[in-house]
Parts: sequence; structure tokens; C-alpha cells
Amino acid sequence: MQKPEQIVLESSGFSDFNPVQKMALKKGLLDGRNLIVAAPTASGKTLVAELAAVNAFLNKKKTVYIVPLKALANEKYQEFNEKYNKIGMKTAMSIGDLDETDPWLGKYDVIIATSEKMDSLLRHGLEWLDRIGLVVIDEIHLLDDPGRGPTLEVTITKLLSLIKPQVLGLSATINNYEEIAEWLKADSFKTDYRPVKVEKGICIDDKIHFEDERIIELDSSSEQSTGITLDTVDKKKQLIIFANTRRGAESTAEKVGFDIKKKLPENEKFELFRISEEIIHSIDRPTKQCERLAGCVRNGTAFHHAGLVAKQRSIIEDNFRKGVIKLIAATPTLAAGINLPAWRVFVKDLRRFSGFRGMDYLPVLEVQQMMGRSGRPKFDKTGEAILVAKNEEEAEKLWDKYILGDPERIQSKLGVEPVLRMHTLALIASGMITSESGLVEFFSKTFYAYQYGDLSELEKVLDKVIKILEDFEFIRTGKNETKKSDNPFRTAAELLKESGSEISPTVLGKRVSELYIDPITAHDFIEGIKVFEKKNATPVGIVQLLCNTIEMIPLLSVRKSDMELVESVVVSNSQNFSKPVPNTWDMDYDDFIRSVKTAMFIGSWMEESGEDVIMDNFNVTPGELRVRLDNADWLSYAMSELAWILNKKTILKEIKKVRIRLKYGVKEELLPLVHIKGIGRVRARMLYTSGVRSLEDMRKIPMASLKRVLGEKLAESVKEQLNVKTEEKQSNSGLNSFMGRDE
Ligand code: ADP
Repeated sequence: MQKPEQIVLESSGFSDFNPVQKMALKKGLLDGRNLIVAAPTASGKTLVAELAAVNAFLNKKKTVYIVPLKALANEKYQEFNEKYNKIGMKTAMSIGDLDETDPWLGKYDVIIATSEKMDSLLRHGLEWLDRIGLVVIDEIHLLDDPGRGPTLEVTITKLLSLIKPQVLGLSATINNYEEIAEWLKADSFKTDYRPVKVEKGICIDDKIHFEDERIIELDSSSEQSTGITLDTVDKKKQLIIFANTRRGAESTAEKVGFDIKKKLPENEKFELFRISEEIIHSIDRPTKQCERLAGCVRNGTAFHHAGLVAKQRSIIEDNFRKGVIKLIAATPTLAAGINLPAWRVFVKDLRRFSGFRGMDYLPVLEVQQMMGRSGRPKFDKTGEAILVAKNEEEAEKLWDKYILGDPERIQSKLGVEPVLRMHTLALIASGMITSESGLVEFFSKTFYAYQYGDLSELEKVLDKVIKILEDFEFIRTGKNETKKSDNPFRTAAELLKESGSEISPTVLGKRVSELYIDPITAHDFIEGIKVFEKKNATPVGIVQLLCNTIEMIPLLSVRKSDMELVESVVVSNSQNFSKPVPNTWDMDYDDFIRSVKTAMFIGSWMEESGEDVIMDNFNVTPGELRVRLDNADWLSYAMSELAWILNKKTILKEIKKVRIRLKYGVKEELLPLVHIKGIGRVRARMLYTSGVRSLEDMRKIPMASLKRVLGEKLAESVKEQLNVKTEEKQSNSGLNSFMGRDE
């Protein structure tokens, strides 16, 4: 049988392992040893994971590969599939719906999932759990991230409490990697090895000073970003400029583009024009941002941030990789995300606005990750990473901090109440924890406990969390229920009950945990549903209830100029809300107003406003619009599931209507039409205006007329679908079956 080392080298087409991989092998990677590898981006850590996964596969064990982002899951999935399908090692990616158990995963050898999805799979129960032999945690330094860290930490702790897999943690070059290793009982090593050397420099005005005393002079008549891009394009290379805001990234790409386009050869200009058209057509109706991006791309530049839709991002990434786009101006999110190296990285802004404190220097780890994007392993021997300083004094500061300095210590972010609330319920709901002492014992195995030692603060929060969950009736505690018995022969279970701390989930609590929402959100929904039962449940009321949740944060802000409008909406809808409107002097008035503004924004989509109008009116980008609609979709699903459990059928129907309107962005009258595949908000409105208002109308309309409105292909598909629907209707329902369940 072939050895894992041979398989991996052959599949990769490499002649030998690099120093990082050799060190991992030396540390016992293939003997099942737990290992933390702290090494820079592009040092070949993925291959270490591949070695361990192939080894697990040969030992008939599964690998779970946890990644922080869906885009990264996709990247790893492609890589594993291309390389190892031929040896029969099957890779699957599980990143989708958090209320799905994905039982099909059982057939796969490598399962790549985000930490949220892995957490959710564990909540639903996994029948293939004991077949996992290896857990890979990519970017394990994200334990420090306030958003993602706690879920990652709990997921790792859960997995290790349930099974005893080999653990491989891949990390950036952080300093306290040994602490993580000790927590996981792993061996570890850190290395600065990079196949491509990065030359680091600082730019002051129009001069860049490098470590080796080399100096580059930029065109002094141009602005810095333009100067550096002109210099890069002259060298037939590409660069990424990091700015601290989306707006900064956009204006940089735009400004630089005007001067760069003169340098582009005709054939490239033609190709760039084609790409810009692709961007324009990547969403139904091009927005201003979309046109702005397409305009940049025509000039050979692009901006990249979370405000773009996924399709636009991938068009830009692909064409940057191909070398057609010369400059990407990005926000720091790009540095932490996908593998997109450039020959040169230029960090324009090293300070970012941070609320109360004003402008703050960026964390060292973040800047080092940005610098780490420089140099493309396949094409360059060296790369360049340049930081921008205002003057000599700042240059020295930046040099010490970011080039010579160490990144911050990674610290657990688990200790906060909302996080503990979610995870405590999940632990109880999945049956993993049955007592308060069990809960404390579980948390004593976390990285938080390892770092802080003293659990007394955590215990206080856990106590509070248990009370809240019990008040909400998501769990039951056995406290005070069992009287002490004198029977000396009582069972261990009885003894445990007597200790007064046995905990079990309720059916409702179990479902809330599976729905992956904050218990407070679930409680608010349940209370809201009860209120709606007594009065009409209106779309406004339902949407505002959706928006007034922790999951929708950050809510849209209400500027002085909108205040009057938002307050007038509050007044005219006060009867529709599930909670009384707080007084203007109450603490929660601000949140309430913001939830109403966010509801107005979502409502505007449901009332068929154009995306460009919504984005203009509410000052959001297409990417934000998508994220917020996806969130609202998930919350409306969760709310409908709760109404179903509570058996509130009338409300359930209203929530489901809202959910479909949210999904398609249509008024209620279009609901029957969007039922048909291929009919979205625009076509449904066209049909409605031409008198087709129901499935019946659609059946009756002559094919020729339908073709006029929908075009030949779609008209045929619609007619075909309607025939199927006719048969379905005889056996079942119309709109109800469309909405998921038969009430
Ligand atoms: P990381 O996961 O550390 O960010 P990658 O796994 O993406 O790094 O590796 C960076 C690049 O180095 C990839 O293009 C990869 O194909 C290449 N590489 C990795 N190991 C080797 C090797 N042993 N020989 C040659 N190239 C390698």
C-alpha cells in the first residue's frame, strides 16, 4: 500500500516536502499526535492537513476540517476533490442551512465545514461521530475573534468531550501558540518559513524605504496610491492596496483607475470591458455601486469588500488571479479570507476609527496578515509589503510595531453572556449536559478556563443563564422537586437529583437550540406570537419583531434627517407592534427606533422597491442588502417553526407569507406567481400587470401571449410546470403546500 507521503507528493506534483511539512512529519503527524502549526500564510500548511487527512483515510477514519468562512470551505473542497478523489477519498462540504442534519455526509471521508455548521451538526446529533479520526482546525488563532471565536472554542471542546480524535490546529504566527497547544494536549512548533521572501518597507511621501536600505521613488506628481500602482504596472506586476473603510477602498480604485488605464494595452482593455459587463449583469438591476465597480474594472482596477455580492467578488478574484485586473483596493477582510496573493501589498491606512477612542492603530496580527498576502508562491521569488507613514516619527513607530513587533496574545472571548446563553442551551438540549455541575465541568475544559484558571466569574454568569433558560421554559431543573430520602439504597440517579441540579431540555428548548438563534430572540418571538394571537398579525409587526433581535445587529442607524419619518412610522403602526413603543426617555427607545428603520428597509424590499432605490434611501450596499435579507429569512423561518410548535396556525400562515415575500421581494398579491420556477419579482409584476394574477389565469393564458411576456423558453417551462402542478393540486393543496407544510 502507498504511504500518505507518497500519495500527497504525487497528487500535488511536488518533489519534496518543504520545511514546515517536514517538521510536522518529524513531530509525529502520521502517528496520530495532536499538533499545532504556527506558520505564515502560504507556507504550505494546507499540505500538512492533507497528509494527516490521507493518513486518517488509509486508517479508515473520517476527517472533519473546520474553516472560518464559506469561501474558504469552497477553496479547500475544490483542492481536496481535485487531488484525492482518484484515491477514493471522498470530500464533502457542509456549509448550508443550519437546521439541516445532512445525513448524506456519513458517506464522505473528509467533511469541510464552517465552525457554525459543525456546531449545528453536533446540535442535531451525528450518527458518524465515532468514525471521526482527525479534526483539522484552520486559522485556530481565530479563537480570539469576538464574533467567531466562542463558537469555534465550544465546538472544539464539544468534539473533544465526545470523541478522542487527532487534532491538527493551523495558525498564523502568533506568540502564545504553545498555550493553545497545551490546552489541546498537542505538540507544537512555530516557524517564519515562507517560500517567497517578503521585502518590507515604509512609504513616506513619495519614497519607499526597504529593510535592505533600497529606496524606490514614486512619481511625485501623482497621489501615493496612484504612484505605487503606476510603478507596479510598469514592472508588469499587480498589487493590493488595503484601506480602512469601504469608501476608502472604492475611491482609491476609482482614482487610480483614471491614470492606470493609459498604460493598458488594447487587448487587455477589451477583456476588461467584457469583465465589466459581467459585473453589471451579476445582479438583476445594476446598482450605483455595481456601475462604479464596472467603471473601475474597465480601467484595470477593482474594489473588494463585504458590500459586494459573492458573485462580483469571485469575478474580481478570478480576473485578478489571471492578471487582467492590476489593482484591488480592499478592506482588511480580504487579508483574513481567501487565498489571493499579489506581488505587492500596500497598506495605506494603519489606523481605524474605533468608537469612543477615536482613531486606533490596527492590531499587529491583522497588519501582518495583510503583509503576508504579498508574493505569489507559484510566480514570484520575492514580494513586497509596504506600510504608509505620515512622517519619519510615525515610520519608526510602525517599523517597531508591525515589522519588528510581535502580534497580540490570543485570548478566549467565551466569557460573555449572549455566547454562554446560546451554548448552554445547546449543551443541555443535545443531552450532553444533565446537571449544573456537568455544565461547569464542560466549561472547565475550554480554552477560556485554561487561560483564566479561575472559573468563579464564569460560574456566576452560568447561574444567571440557567435561570433565564428556565424562566423561558427552554429547560427544566430538578431543583426543589426531590425531597431527600433516608433510604440508604437509593440509586446514583436519585442521589444526583437530590443534589438539586439535574437539568433537562423541554421540547421547545430543543427546537430553539436546533434553530440556532439566541434564546432571548426565541423568547421574544414566542411572546410576540402570543400577542399577535390576540390582535391581527400584520407584516409590519412580524418584520419589526424579526428586526428587534441580536441576530440583526447592527441595526440601521437613524440619522437626524430620518428621525421624523421613522417616528411617524412608529406612531402610525403602534398597534401593529408586538411590544408597546418605549417612551422616548427609556433606554431601549433608541434600539426600538433603529429596529423600525431596519424593518422599513426590509419592508421596502417586500413592497417591490428597486434595489437601487432601497440602497440609496437606506444607504446600504448590495452585499449588505443580501446579508440582511438572508438573516431575516433565517429568522422568519425560526419564527414560523416556533409558531408551528406552539400550534398557532393563523399566525403561522402570516409568518410564512412574510417569509415568501421576503424571499422574493414582492407584495402579497404576487405570491401565487412567484411559486413558479423562473418567475421572480420583476416577471411576476409584469404578468400581474398584464392581467395574469393566479395559477388559474396562468393556465388559461394562450401560449403565444405568455411567450410575449416571458420569452419562448421560460413560457414553455412555465406551462410544463403548470401541468405538473395540476396533478399535484388534485392530490394536495395550492399555496399551502408551496409554503412548506400542510396546516
Ligand atoms: P498555507 O495553507 O500555509 O496558507 P498553502 O497550502 O496555500 O499555504 O501553500 C502555499 C503554496 O505553496 C501553494 O501554492 C502550494 O501549492 C505550494 N506548496 C505547498 N507545499 C509545497 C511543496 N512541498 N513544494 C512546492 N510547493 C508547495
